[in-house]
Amino acid sequence: MNKKRTLRRILIFLLLIVLVVIARPVSFLLYTYYKDQQATRVQKAGYSNDASHLNETAIGTLVKVPENVDEAITQIAQLIKQASLQGKKISIAGAQHSMGGHTIYPNGIVLDMKSFHYMKYDSISNTLLVGSGALWSEIIPYLDKYNRSVAVMQSNNSFSVGGSISVNCHGWQPNSPPIASTVASFRLIRANGEIVTCSRNENRELFSLVLGGYGLFGVILDVKLHVVENKMYKTQQYVIKSCDYIREYNRLATGKTDLGMVYGRININPSHFMEEAIIGTFLIDSKAAFKPLGESGFTAIRRTVFRGSANSAYGKNLRWKAEKLIAAQINGKTVSRNQLQNEGVEVYQNTDTAYTDILHEYFIPTNSVVQFIDRLKAIIPTHKVDLLNITVRNVQKDEDTYLRYANEEVFGFVMLFNQAKTPEAENEMKALTQQLVNEAIALGGTYYLPYRLHATKEQLYKAYPQAREFFLLKKKYDSAEVFSNKFYETYK
Ligand SMILES: Cc1cc2nc3c(=O)[nH]c(=O)nc-3n(C[C@H](O)[C@H](O)[C@H](O)COP(=O)(O)OP(=O)(O)OC[C@H]3O[C@@H](n4cnc5c(N)ncnc54)[C@H](O)[C@@H]3O)c2cc1C
Repeated sequence: MNKKRTLRRILIFLLLIVLVVIARPVSFLLYTYYKDQQATRVQKAGYSNDASHLNETAIGTLVKVPENVDEAITQIAQLIKQASLQGKKISIAGAQHSMGGHTIYPNGIVLDMKSFHYMKYDSISNTLLVGSGALWSEIIPYLDKYNRSVAVMQSNNSFSVGGSISVNCHGWQPNSPPIASTVASFRLIRANGEIVTCSRNENRELFSLVLGGYGLFGVILDVKLHVVENKMYKTQQYVIKSCDYIREYNRLATGKTDLGMVYGRININPSHFMEEAIIGTFLIDSKAAFKPLGESGFTAIRRTVFRGSANSAYGKNLRWKAEKLIAAQINGKTVSRNQLQNEGVEVYQNTDTAYTDILHEYFIPTNSVVQFIDRLKAIIPTHKVDLLNITVRNVQKDEDTYLRYANEEVFGFVMLFNQAKTPEAENEMKALTQQLVNEAIALGGTYYLPYRLHATKEQLYKAYPQAREFFLLKKKYDSAEVFSNKFYETYK
């Protein structure tokens, strides 16, 4: 009888311990989930904004391009003519996920290209002809039917083709230059109304200016993109020390022809800040059966764990522990390339109206990567900022664009911050950005241009020595500066 009672007591005691251990993370995540459901954002009529949610600007007109190709081309040509005659400015918008007003000019005309989204796959040339307003989320399911996939794109599917090639995006595709390398040609309506085809053989100067040209040389109509085969990948995740990043990356990824994708992440939780990293590799698995393209899995729980790390050291520590645990669980799992690339930014995006998510990215030559990690480790904690994420991507030398950020093989450090929408937080972010831009430049690197316009003009010209010539050529192709935006007005 006594033995039974003791056993029951031990069991109750163990149960209590289990409850105490899981009570905090469970209640924390439930609270985060509840809070996250409350927030919504509204866009005021007559204004435009972008993904920074810090750029609300009164505009003159919002023009949505019609879906019909001929009608759209006629309308765009007329609009350019009218704007030139009336001295008005046109800014071009895709999904507006840039963050520095790159799609906005105060009181100007915003040309929304999203309805210009037709697409046609050509199996002979293995290219996709696609309207510049099409989003990757529309393109991936279309290509999936032909067992084809996007060759280079961002880590999410929420962006337009026009916006992606105008910033010359890059993603998780290893051993590859940015997206410009996958563009065969595009058609452009210039400021004088002329429609020109640009490629490596035709109008080559315009080709290199428009790719990574931030909408300053004309309206990109449609693009011929080289595509690749959709394949099944088997994942393998490695938890490493961040100081070994390049050594481990070279061992796992460099020159590997059977490697489809590589994800790199550095921990940001305050205990052991930036000491660890996870490298996730995706190797071609030709024996694995194809799975139909579906919804991304576990989005609610992944979002809750991620958002729980905003403004919370506890949440950040919990998230890194969970990520390491999951890394071990998913080893050996198979997934298609299209499935991996088909996830929207809404899975992680901030919806809290008092805060916003702000991105930075710095491109660092391979030999200086470990040094840059050390500099980040020392600098970030000296600023009052809330860092949520650091991902690391490999980008090969860009041979195509004028305003290029990859002058050699580089590693992109993408940092996501949760920022309060206050002047103090904005000033702090500006100070941090300027300091990190200096660090990147000192190590022979550059920074990415679609984000906040915090870098000084002097820093831009240092990081991009070709910028002066780029802005002169802008005047050559668009002397009345019909195509403009806040990025151009800040740095020209
Ligand atoms: C959450 C998030 C994640 C991101 N991840 C990545 C990433 O993994 N890799 C990466 O490289 N970048 C990334 N970015 C940056 C992103 O690639 C750029 O902001 C890109 O421009 C977004 O495409 P968009 O359709 O929203 O472009 P927009 O913001 O609409 O436009 C960007 C620029 O392109 C011009 N433009 C758009 N359409 C046309 C057209 N038809 N003709 C001429 N000019 C045009 C605009 O005028 C503007 O200057 C990310 C951004 C966010 C917010």
